Amino acid sequence: MNSEAISVTNKLLSTPKNIVIVGHKNPDGDAIGSCLGLGNFLRQKGMKVTVIMPNNFPKFLQWIPETDSILTLEREPEETKNVIKNADLIFTLDFNTLNRTGDLEEFLENAKADFILIDHHQQPGDYAVVTYSDVAMCSTSEMVYHFIESLKGVQLLNKEIATQLYVGIMTDTGSFRYPATTATTHRVIANLIEAGAKNSEIHQNIYDTNSPDRLKLLGIALNNLVMIPAYKTAYITISQKELDNNNFKKGDTEGFVNYALSMSGVIFAAIFIENKKEEIIKISLRSKGSFSVNDFSRKHFNGGGHINAAGGRSLLTLDETIAYFKSVLPNYKQVLNES
Ligand code: 5GP
Ligand code: MN
Repeated sequence: MNSEAISVTNKLLSTPKNIVIVGHKNPDGDAIGSCLGLGNFLRQKGMKVTVIMPNNFPKFLQWIPETDSILTLEREPEETKNVIKNADLIFTLDFNTLNRTGDLEEFLENAKADFILIDHHQQPGDYAVVTYSDVAMCSTSEMVYHFIESLKGVQLLNKEIATQLYVGIMTDTGSFRYPATTATTHRVIANLIEAGAKNSEIHQNIYDTNSPDRLKLLGIALNNLVMIPAYKTAYITISQKELDNNNFKKGDTEGFVNYALSMSGVIFAAIFIENKKEEIIKISLRSKGSFSVNDFSRKHFNGGGHINAAGGRSLLTLDETIAYFKSVLPNYKQVLNES
């Protein structure tokens, strides 16, 4: 955070305020962890804080301390709209543009509050009085740690904040293995462990939560995996029928795309998941090296994210979406083979 951003933030936080902290639709570990960690810190500084999310989040994140305090537009629509209306200051975390908040967007746009943006996605919007954007950061949760440092608040770290931020950093770095993981990330993690984060327990709580249904669905996903060696690409499809047959629950397909990327010789991986209710195909894209799935998703699938991890959607059928995906791949033959 630069010195001007720090001084504007300090000024905004110099008197008690009604603060709302909001994460993106279908919140992941980093959205939940960063919002809750920042919320706990700001409460200790005398602020009245409400953490809100557009919709609910999977079970494997519901054990995180203070998740009970989160309001979602999906479950508590009136209360959620009210806290936005009455907010003096709104922190938007782990997303770059307000349309990433789904149905919350219109209420945020009409809010009278000032905004502070903290995020590591590409191309941040310009709606905030303080924009703390750093696309080199591995996670928004690491940024919240640095935000706390910048406000000279490290002594306020407690077991809850340490756990929340640890979850966010761990999940967004694939357990500290993606390239954005730095020596500083590990120093932050060491400090979080010293502040009370139980690293091994947290890992188990997040990753050792498979149900038989999820493992069966993974089997189907792996069976549907298609490899296209000419483009160093692999993709997975899952139809609504396959989800239904395996008692799909939110979060069950999290991480499946990484199996495609883990194949030797593959640098571009995709998963296409049919969602009949929303009438979309939800797409997750992952890459290794310099091939930007952020650019690819922006161009073809109405989405975005980071260079090596992005999401998007298609309004075509599953078969049509795959046909379209395959039809654009030849445009990337050279870059994919050079990456
Ligand atoms: P996932 O594939 O896990 O849904 O998303 C991968 C990454 O891309 C995450 O960091 C997520 O926040 C981001 N992302 C997913 N969908 C979109 C989108 O539609 N727009 C933008 N800008 N980022 C997205
Ligand atoms: Mn993130």
